[in-house]
Amino acid sequence: MLKPIQLQSSNSYRGRFAPTPSGPLHFGSLVAALGSFLDARAHYGQWLVRIEDVDKTRAVPNADTQILNQLEAHGLHWDETVIYQSQRDEVYARVLGDISAQTYMCDCSRKQIRAQGAYYNGHCRTRQPRPAPYAIRFKNDNAKTHLFDRRHQHVQAEAEFAQEDFILRRRDGLFAYQLAVVVDDLEQGITDVVRGSDLLIPSFWQATLWQTLGGRTPRWLHLPLVTDPSGRKLSKQNHAPAIDETFAVDNLIAAAKVLSLHLGEAKDYDSVDTVLKASTQQWQSQWQMIV
Ligand code: GLU
Ligand code: ZN
Repeated sequence: MLKPIQLQSSNSYRGRFAPTPSGPLHFGSLVAALGSFLDARAHYGQWLVRIEDVDKTRAVPNADTQILNQLEAHGLHWDETVIYQSQRDEVYARVLGDISAQTYMCDCSRKQIRAQGAYYNGHCRTRQPRPAPYAIRFKNDNAKTHLFDRRHQHVQAEAEFAQEDFILRRRDGLFAYQLAVVVDDLEQGITDVVRGSDLLIPSFWQATLWQTLGGRTPRWLHLPLVTDPSGRKLSKQNHAPAIDETFAVDNLIAAAKVLSLHLGEAKDYDSVDTVLKASTQQWQSQWQMIV
């Protein structure tokens, strides 16, 4: 049973869409963009866009511009300036410095880690320092093993997984997504993380980092995933096609359907804005928001 959400006129809700620019938006990422947008608008909050190119080896040239153009073509206009993780190495390095007492160097190879069991067993904790190249791991002593998600409700983690000393900086020197996403969400004052359910499991590690770095955790909402006919998640790796913005109204109606909103047919709408307006109203009633 959903608990009604009482909306306040001066709502401080801040949400975000944080795509990895490894290719243009496909239908699955449009669903995540739309869900986070609608939740922000339904709360009269802010909706930010952040380009998650922390892994410079995966970023595809111009994919960021393409994604931003696709969002605009669908009427998904963001607030504030778009930030790029690739420009924030100094921030991540500073945060790692601040929590150095809670981290350690690990030079275990993949093979050595596999030999330790399903999860990394803290082998290097007592073997400091390690020779380069090494990864930096988090001493995960206060792991969160439970979280509350608005759709999945109470979610319990496999304890061994949640307690793993996960990586904050990779052996190749790149900052880990887990670190960058939490540092950025905190710095941008994000209150609500709304994204695809493929990221529900990493939320346990992220929740621990949120608590360590910021003393709070966000509200979580993990949206339904779009799968292809063989049941695999749509993704760039599976060559999901880019969405065609000449059918923006149809795309939005189809994405809204995945989010359990029923908008009728494209001919009933004269623009993306009217689709988004109707979707926001339905989202408010679906989530029992009291305006
Ligand atoms: N950059 C991640 C992705 O595209 C999403 C991160 C997030 O929403 O927290 O899968
Ligand atoms: Zn190690």
